[in-house]
Formats: sequence, C-alpha cells, structure tokens
Amino acid sequence: MQCGILPLYIDGKFVISGHTFDNINPVNGETISLISEANEVQVASAVKAARSAVEGEWGDFSPAERALYLRKIADGIEARFEEFVAAEVADTGRPVYLARTLDVPRAIANFRTFADITASFVGESCETKLADGHLLNYTVRKPLGVIAVISPWNLPILLFSWKVAPALAAGNAVVCKPSEETPSSATLLAEVIDSVGLPKGVFNLIHGRGATTGAYLTTHPDIDAVSFTGSSKTGSTIMKTVADDVKEVSFELGGKNAAVVFADADFDAAVEGVLKSSFYNSGQVCMCSERVYVHESIFERFVEALKEKTEALSLNLPDAEGVNLGPLVSFAHREKVLGYFKLAEQEGANVITGGKVPTFGDERDKGAFVLPTIWTGLSDDARVINEEIFGPCCHIAPFRDDDEVLKRVNNSDYGLDCSIWTTDLSRAHRFSRKVHVGIVWVNTWYSRDLRTPFGGAKRSGLGREGGIFSLNTYSEITNVCVKF
Ligand code: NAD
Repeated sequence: MQCGILPLYIDGKFVISGHTFDNINPVNGETISLISEANEVQVASAVKAARSAVEGEWGDFSPAERALYLRKIADGIEARFEEFVAAEVADTGRPVYLARTLDVPRAIANFRTFADITASFVGESCETKLADGHLLNYTVRKPLGVIAVISPWNLPILLFSWKVAPALAAGNAVVCKPSEETPSSATLLAEVIDSVGLPKGVFNLIHGRGATTGAYLTTHPDIDAVSFTGSSKTGSTIMKTVADDVKEVSFELGGKNAAVVFADADFDAAVEGVLKSSFYNSGQVCMCSERVYVHESIFERFVEALKEKTEALSLNLPDAEGVNLGPLVSFAHREKVLGYFKLAEQEGANVITGGKVPTFGDERDKGAFVLPTIWTGLSDDARVINEEIFGPCCHIAPFRDDDEVLKRVNNSDYGLDCSIWTTDLSRAHRFSRKVHVGIVWVNTWYSRDLRTPFGGAKRSGLGREGGIFSLNTYSEITNVCVKF
C-alpha cells in the first residue's frame, strides 16, 4: 500500500486523486488509510484506457495467452497471501481465520478456475442439410468490450475477483469499483496485476462512493456492460441507467433466504447447518438464511438447541483465539441492523437470544458488534420476515406440511437460495424443483464448485455466473452460418 493513501489504477499507472476520504476499521473506529476518490474525469480516463486496451493488443490475445496472465495473477496473490488477509481483516473486522480459509483462497481459485475454463473451452458447431447444399453453423465468442465491475463490501476480494477473472478470461477490459467500505484488497490486486505486466488499460481500478464515482461509471456512454453485485435497490437504479442503451447487465443482488428443516432431518447436522447459514461472517453473506422454517414436531427442541449453540459463539477481535464472529462491517451498517432489532420487537417477536449490542467491558466495546439474534413468533407478513437485514439474525417459524412450507418459502420478493435439511431423498428432489431460487442446498449450505451456475431469481438478480455461464455472460456470442 502506498503512503497510507489508496490510489486509483488507471491505464497502468497508480494515481492519487485530489480528494480523499477515511477508510475506517470497524473493530475500533480508527482510520486505516485514506481512499482516493475518483472524479468524473478520472472515471472517463479509466474507460478510455479500457477501450484502447480492448481494441489494442489485448483484443488479439488467444484464450491460452489470457489464461497465462490469469495464472500469474493467482500466483501473485498467493505470494502476498498474508497481505491480502491483513487487508480484508482491517477493512471488515472479520476473523483472521475466515480471510485465510475463505476470502483469499477463493480469490486465487477464481483466477485459476477461469484460466482453466477459457484455455480448455472448445466451441460449438453444427451442420444442416439443405435441398441444394449444406450449412455449417459455428459459434464465435468475442469480448463484450469494456465492462464496469461494481462490487460490495461483504466478501470484498472474493466477489471482486469473481467478476474480474472471468471478464478478463473472456478478453474484455474492465473498470472496477470496489465498495467504499472495503477498498484495500482491490488495491493490492491492482499492485499484483501491475507486477505481472498485464497490458496497460486492461484492468483499471477506481475508488469512491456509489452515488458519485459509481454513477459516473454506470452512466458513462462508452461502457458496454455492467457486472454488479450489491443490493437490489442499487441494481434497479443501475438497470434504469443503462436501459435506454439496452446495455448488458449481470446482477447478483440481495436475498431473504430460507432454511427448511424437515422432521426427518439429521437433527444435529441441521442445527449446525442453520447456525452456520444464519451467523457466518456475522450474517453478512448474501446466501445467509434469515428465515428458518422447522417442522412443528421438532420446533421447540430445535429452537432450544440453536439458542444454546448461538450463545456459545465467541464474538471477538479478528486474531483472538477461538473467535467465531467479528463486528459488522461499519457503524452505519450496525445502525441499520439495530433498526431491524427494534422493529422485530415492535412487530411482536419473542427474542430467544441476542437482540442488542453486547457489553464486553474491554476494547471490543469500541467495535461495531451486535449479538447473534434469534426470534420466533412473527407472522409471515412482518417486515422482519420479508426485508433483507444482512446481519447475524434469523427468525424461526414452525410448519406443518411440505406444500405449506413451500408456499411460504416462495412467498418472497427475493429468490437467491434455499437450504433444506432432510434424509428423504425424494422429498429433497421434489422440493428443490419447486423452490423459486437460483441455488438449492440439500444438507449443506454455501458449498461451492466454481464451475456451477450462481445467481438469483426475482429481485435477487439477473443472469448466472460460474464456469461456462460466466464466459457466456462476458462474451458476445455470434453464430456464423456458412453455405457450402
Ligand atoms: P450496495 O448496493 O449499497 O453497494 C454495492 C456497490 O454498488 C458499492 O460498490 C457501491 O459503492 C455501489 N453503488 C451504490 N450506489 C450506486 C449507484 N447509484 N451507481 C453505481 N454504483 C453504486 O450494496 P452493499 O451494501 O455494498 O452490499 C450488500 C448487498 O449486496 C446486500 O443486499 C447483499 O445481499 C448483496 N450481495 C449479493 C450477492 C449475490 O451474489 N447475490 C453477494 C454479495 C452481496
């Protein structure tokens, strides 16, 4: 990192912009670094650099040549592994183990996976017989051009690289804006990319707030597509922005995911699974389950078991021994989550555990912590059951039969994922086909193979990424039809 100021990276050069704002550590409220904020002119020069790159030598590279760069980037992250871990931990306050086991390994895997996929991809062709000859149809994949990549704060380098890697693998140039809450690891990635000699302008990094820098990027007339991960509200704003020009979008948006525990579930595995799906990364994963439905025959036992395990979770500083949960990403986000804690009580919830800010009596009191929280007793139309909170909390409701719970799960504006816990394989298959979501997990949660499609239904997103689905997203697919 350079001089405590996080620079922009435009056309192969690090640039400190004229205006900066503070990057705050949620563990203690202290300033970690200053963030250069890109103005409209700097955003425009990043887009111009990307355009030149995609129309220059990068546009002529073969998939195998591009894959070589992606592998070098993966190696470069690996060589600076602990710096990436430190950057993620400082920006988010998450436990060090989480950054070491999830965020940074996944960033490396994203670059390696999309290198493999693009290098090994074999195209499609088909022949058609006519009365007077034949047709040979074959598919050509071309880059879309200049992609605007905009990412959120909850899994900073994981989600940032999840878009950058396939966009580059498909031959595009990118202008990327990470969240203003978590800019450090993306800046380190710019250093790695610079060090591997990727042609200038192929990867550009701009920092800044959504309403200004983000909007300068999405309203720029010379971008070809927007790949966005963040809230449904911002996704909708971006969609309107690019609607007139019918630009390509790929959206990974919010969720209000359900976990369903059937009476025949492996009880202990289901309790452990729901504990993880509700509280992992302090509930700040788009896939977390904030709605839990448990069969009435095991409801009380389940609530008691989950309460016991929840109260045993260790809330602590990132490097403390045995830490399970860190603070929320920012004090502003804590205010939002606490607003929902208050609302739950106003709507008549029973607070089974949590529901407030913990008091530790030590330095943790400076951090943006909230207690992991379980509610019961709300009716299905409560706002707490229907709006995404994005904190360590869940509501548990009993259900009677499969049709009833399916209806309640599907009765949501969102459709990202659903996890179901059952030992009845037929029931798992039947239920999975009828849930209106992008991903169903059976007896597991958040298990990912990067070759599989990832995305959401309804307000949870548009399009699918992962494996070949990402290459499709980031490519202009042209059919060439030759008569012979
Ligand atoms: P957000 O929408 O507030 O911000 C996301 C990004 O968009 C940030 O970089 C922000 O600066 C930028 N932005 C904001 N307004 C903008 C605008 N008008 N124009 C252009 N850019 C703008 O979301 P967040 O609070 O950072 O992230 C949390 C949300 O992300 C949650 O809703 C969560 O469910 C969702 N999420 C979804 C997935 C998924 O894969 N579906 C993954 C992670 C997070």
